[in-house]
Amino acid sequence: MRELVIIGSGPAGYTAAIYAARADLSPLVITSSVEMGGDLMKTTEVDNFPGFPDGVMGPDLMMGMQAQAERFGAELLFDDATAVDLSGPVKRITVGNGDVIEAKAVVLSMGSEYRRLGLADEARLSGFGVSWCATCDGAFFRNRTVAVVGGGDSAMEEATFLTKFADKVLLVHRSDQFRASPAMLNRAKADPKIEFVTNAAVTGILGADTVAGVTLTMTDGSSRTLDVDGLFIAVGSDPRTALIADQVTLTDTGNVWVDGRSSRTSLSGVFAAGDIIDPTYRQAIVAAGSGAAAAMDAQHFLEASSH
Ligand code: NAP
Repeated sequence: MRELVIIGSGPAGYTAAIYAARADLSPLVITSSVEMGGDLMKTTEVDNFPGFPDGVMGPDLMMGMQAQAERFGAELLFDDATAVDLSGPVKRITVGNGDVIEAKAVVLSMGSEYRRLGLADEARLSGFGVSWCATCDGAFFRNRTVAVVGGGDSAMEEATFLTKFADKVLLVHRSDQFRASPAMLNRAKADPKIEFVTNAAVTGILGADTVAGVTLTMTDGSSRTLDVDGLFIAVGSDPRTALIADQVTLTDTGNVWVDGRSSRTSLSGVFAAGDIIDPTYRQAIVAAGSGAAAAMDAQHFLEASSH
């Protein structure tokens, strides 16, 4: 039986792995089969992670964390956790290949998943002009016009990145109040290729096989159509709790509940870190810090239960 299994490989999971490996817990990190490294694998420059005065590319940061965890002996399993039984003293985690892994303690660090707009044609045109990832799909829109929906840092980042390819980026936001940080908002506003369309909700996506436009409903009740070839959705994310929602207590915001400033969940031996517990900050550095805390909490739990 393993001492510690960490589910998820974003900044929280890898930092938990670094700390746990250094504490001789030989952690196993279940990285996910497709989203290993988490959301930062899909971003470009990260300018606010301390220690990188000139910024660092998201994938480089995550590969550095992975290498650091492996250097201290963390083991990685490039698979998905598909089912868990966390209630008893032996935690059982089933992975995609059918294996069941047993552990004395578990850190949940599955992060968050992109929010959808909930429009009828969103899923149908996903991959055919509708995207949640400019770094993945932006190059398909060279010399085209695209829309980005959202008013947070993600929307600003996506819009700014898309100007590398698109001739024009329309940033559509449902109000004229932005959650984005001033630095990222101002950079987008200063970009001559980005045009802001505010007080506008995207209420329809047009196109038979690929996106041909979006319809907007303005706050004054009027309608408008934008001729765009792509729609990038950046309206935030929700904690990824489907795997564990029926086992650990969740908060009103849908995050995993933890006890005060600790990473202890409602189940003994189960700890949580990163975006999955965080309705407020959702920053890589905060996630990394909470990953360190989770590893230390798990270490103390394992020491106490071995006596
Ligand atoms: P966010 O800050 O929660 O912003 C989501 C935006 O989407 C808001 O403007 C919200 O509008 C809008 N929205 C939500 N649901 C919508 C819907 N159904 N239809 C239309 N618009 C909708 O999310 P985020 O931008 O993904 O950022 C998440 C966190 O990551 C933040 O803490 C952010 O600072 C961080 N982040 C940091 C960086 C960076 O520093 N490099 C980059 C990306 C993200 P309302 O305001 O009207 O609710």
